[in-house]
Amino acid sequence: MDGLNKSMYDIGSDSAFAILARSQELSKSGKQVINLGIGQPDFPTPPNVVEAAIKALKDGHHGYTSSNGIAELRQAVVEDFFRRNKVRVNPNNILITPGGKSIIFYTMLMFGQPGSEIITPDPGFIAYKSMIDYTGAKAVSLPHRMENNFSFDAEELLSLVNDKTKLIILNSPANPTGGVVPKKEYDKLAEGLLKHPKVFILSDEIYSRILFDEHKHHTLLKYPEIKDRVIVLDGWSKTYSMTGWRLGFGIYPQNIFSYAEKLAINCHSCVNSAAQFAGIEALRGSQKSVNDMIENFKSRRNFLVDQLNLIKNIECKKPGGAFYVFPRINKKNLTSTEISKYLLEKKYIATVPGSSFGENGEGFLRISYANSIENLSKFVECLKQFMDE
Ligand code: PLP
Repeated sequence: MDGLNKSMYDIGSDSAFAILARSQELSKSGKQVINLGIGQPDFPTPPNVVEAAIKALKDGHHGYTSSNGIAELRQAVVEDFFRRNKVRVNPNNILITPGGKSIIFYTMLMFGQPGSEIITPDPGFIAYKSMIDYTGAKAVSLPHRMENNFSFDAEELLSLVNDKTKLIILNSPANPTGGVVPKKEYDKLAEGLLKHPKVFILSDEIYSRILFDEHKHHTLLKYPEIKDRVIVLDGWSKTYSMTGWRLGFGIYPQNIFSYAEKLAINCHSCVNSAAQFAGIEALRGSQKSVNDMIENFKSRRNFLVDQLNLIKNIECKKPGGAFYVFPRINKKNLTSTEISKYLLEKKYIATVPGSSFGENGEGFLRISYANSIENLSKFVECLKQFMDE
């Protein structure tokens, strides 16, 4: 189209949202669709958090707030981050945003341009590559293989870094695999990055509370040797079942914070003030709902992984975090898109094809188990039938 910036043709989309739209269409036409496609907890936001938003509205918090977020919320983030990671961050380096996704958007705009390279997980969250492509930078795939429990290998990562590399994106626990990066890889990476002092890291830690078994979270801000070039992304969407509230944050190094803030001012001005008050209550109030949700996810994960591994030609790792499984499905050379499409159109089960998360995702399906055991059982039955057909 004449007049349109040609980068618009490079921007990708998120197939999970397209699949959600198709599932809703099927539901409207009377089909009972089981949605294992979209990445959101199936629990309501905790009631104390909802009440805090209502109170904020009743108390008259209706106007703009400061663009980086209200001070009390940023202070609550500092306290929570310290409780969980034993790292004290400066509240002035925190940018509250409408969801964690804005941090991806702003950070890609800050680092991406033609001629530069950004290393990104493959398979990885779709928005990373879409936005890198939009900026004209080259997206360099960092494989996260099933054989490596969907972690990266620090040596392989360091071998991808060159003079053009501006940013490395990391995500643990990961979407779409649930993979968790072990501390030893981060140790090696932090040491190796000393040789590349200009490279920044965006560490997407949005699933950092949703961890199982022996897995622990290791924020990259724990490494003094690189912490002045680490940007952390986190938020309330997944931990507190607040996907629709649009509340997230980034922690930026001091020397680039003002640029992120300028993007925020020019784009969203500030986050909905009632949602920010809800965010304070989420962090400072009872954590029982979060702990219960994680226990629930853990039983569903165990159930689903065991069941999937009983099906011939399906192999599924037990992920250490998030609420996705990423099984390898081998069915008569069908692509993951064909399998996902068949499951949606014929069995009314929404999943996301692995290939939409990058080349290394081909042959896999992303299944969100933020759904009841009853629906997960129905899914397993349908998948069994499909594999036998
Ligand atoms: N990062 C990852 C890895 C995600 O999976 C998501 C959401 O699916 C986000 C960031 C963005 O979350 P939100 O914008 O809802 O806070």
